[in-house]
Amino acid sequence: MGVTGGISEMPQVTEGPGAADSEALATLHRVFGYGAFRGEQQSIIEHVVAGGDALVLMPTGGGKSLCYQIPALVRPGTGVVISPLIALMQDQVDALRALGVRAGFINSTQDFDERRMVEAEFQAGELDLLYLAPERLRLDATLDLLSRGKISVFAIDEAHCVSQWGHDFRPDYLALSLLGERWPDVPRIALTATATRATHEEITQRLNLPTARHFVASFDRPNIQYRIVPKADPRKQLLSFLREEHTGDAGIVYCLSRNSVERTAEFLTANGIQAVPYHAGLDAGTRATHQSRFLREDGLVVVATIAFGMGIDKPDVRFVAHLDLPKSIEGYYQETGRAGRDGLPSTAWMTYGLNDVIQQRKLIQSGDGDEAFRRRAAAHLDSMLALCETAQCRRGQLLAYFGQDPDATGCGNCDTCLTPPETWDGTIAAQKVLSTVVRLQRERGQKFGALQIVDILLGKRTGKVIQFDHDQLSVFGIGQDLTEGEWRGVIRQLLAQGLLAVEGEYGTLALTGTSGSVLRREQEVPLRKEPKKPAASRSRSAGASGGAGKAKEAAAELPGELLPAFEALRAWRAEQAREQGVPAYVIFHDATLREIVARRPGSVRELGTVSGVGEKKLATYGEGVLQVLASLDGAAPDAADDVPDADWPEPADEPEPDDWI
Ligand code: ADP
Ligand code: ZN
Repeated sequence: MGVTGGISEMPQVTEGPGAADSEALATLHRVFGYGAFRGEQQSIIEHVVAGGDALVLMPTGGGKSLCYQIPALVRPGTGVVISPLIALMQDQVDALRALGVRAGFINSTQDFDERRMVEAEFQAGELDLLYLAPERLRLDATLDLLSRGKISVFAIDEAHCVSQWGHDFRPDYLALSLLGERWPDVPRIALTATATRATHEEITQRLNLPTARHFVASFDRPNIQYRIVPKADPRKQLLSFLREEHTGDAGIVYCLSRNSVERTAEFLTANGIQAVPYHAGLDAGTRATHQSRFLREDGLVVVATIAFGMGIDKPDVRFVAHLDLPKSIEGYYQETGRAGRDGLPSTAWMTYGLNDVIQQRKLIQSGDGDEAFRRRAAAHLDSMLALCETAQCRRGQLLAYFGQDPDATGCGNCDTCLTPPETWDGTIAAQKVLSTVVRLQRERGQKFGALQIVDILLGKRTGKVIQFDHDQLSVFGIGQDLTEGEWRGVIRQLLAQGLLAVEGEYGTLALTGTSGSVLRREQEVPLRKEPKKPAASRSRSAGASGGAGKAKEAAAELPGELLPAFEALRAWRAEQAREQGVPAYVIFHDATLREIVARRPGSVRELGTVSGVGEKKLATYGEGVLQVLASLDGAAPDAADDVPDADWPEPADEPEPDDWI
């Protein structure tokens, strides 16, 4: 008891409440059990409650849902939420009902009777919120239904799906501009976590929201630690990362291909980590089961292609790992943003190597799409590569990409801030690579890939070197000062900087327009030093312990003596969730359980002041929680049940530096 200094008995009232926003604040306390609005939530809600249109750009986990849920509760009528995520509607509605909100959805997963019931509730004005998939709005029946009820607000979630250049384009979103024409008096709020200027403008235009007020939140996610490590043996590296830092945690692993999704999931399972695959090649039933297990079970890992994760609002995803390079920073930021919505320390971890660059460049060249499409794709990739190769703060680069001023001193919670990489003057090394490429082409009329170039530089008489007489070239063996791994690093960075190009289906290397200035020594080439071993994984609390980190919002790790109570509450929560068939976080979030064990409330009234405990939840679970706490008093605290398996195989060997790509 008494762990927190200022017990927030009375919610902090934010300044100058008018009638509408004091009602909004009262709803926040009563229904959601939260003490105060976050960031811009209050001004957004005020604006929409007053009838204004809004475009809300907020990172994943920023708290977008309340921005339309509270107006829907405060304004008369039903809030209609357009969301592309049919598979999640049931969970979203369950979560709202657990809060005492009258919510329903209409989509293709329902049978006729279920749908009729929701329609009747809507017409009778008995719904606070109605979720619809965008394709429903193409049906006259849906439009007729909507015109027979009273609508308080239209919320267009995942609004970036209207962007044809984006990675989540949904043609049905284009039809949403009709909402404003048909219901000119109903405010519309469009929300997204994708926020480049271009997407931003596209949303305003295509959704026909010319007078919408724009709310752009800070895109920083201080509780997420960003790390990018050199790729050696990605699966083994992943396994060590999970064992060292995320035992028993829920997380998502992204791979580029279905095949590698399958193999990675098998590999993790074989090594004692519960993992399931998720990709577009699996049948819908399997996908739904795996998604639902991820939401409902504690500590499951999903290995997925990018087809997984949009709209998943599981708050306790502790890590997002990328085994392959994402195609753009937008995609990367959305995917990593799925970690740590609850504000607790989380990790975004990626392996990246020479082959990623070659593969992605090849994909762009051989893919369909016109020249303009290719140029865009290449520009996206270049920004992503710049992030991977930077010697500066990763977070700073990400924020700058989204047009936000980064902290000049670095964030203190990314790998380059925690272990600043060394740089070296790579001009001569770059010249050696470029001259080898030039000589092959000029003297022999040949083009080769990175492997052969490295063998020539190292002076290796491999079969292929001998076959082509490459040991006769004057550049043969001029690169013995660096290791193979270092040469691969040089080539990777030259490709990333556009000083070298990849061509054709074999990924052969060629000069670019700027290579000449390096060869003539008109340009210096600073390079990042390849680390001798992969950046040692750090404790997951690095960002939150206050030491180097500035993870302002991240809660402190739980002190050991509170763990038994926390585990007991989690077990109780799992039981409740099973009985009701809902994900555990629908009962209470981890963050709420943490606050409960830290404060040890002795009465229902006191429990009601914990963040995340609203009126309905207090009535439903108050007694149950107090009983769990009471049963702990006196009982000798058991050690946590789930100690890691003793019979796991030995940890993987550290990869040899020379294997690095
Ligand atoms: P988004 O949709 O932007 O990704 P959510 O709406 O799912 O984010 O909110 C992220 C998390 O933050 C949720 O767990 C939500 O309950 C919590 N949250 C949102 N607003 C507040 C608030 N004002 N106080 C406390 N928690 C909040
Ligand atoms: Zn940083």
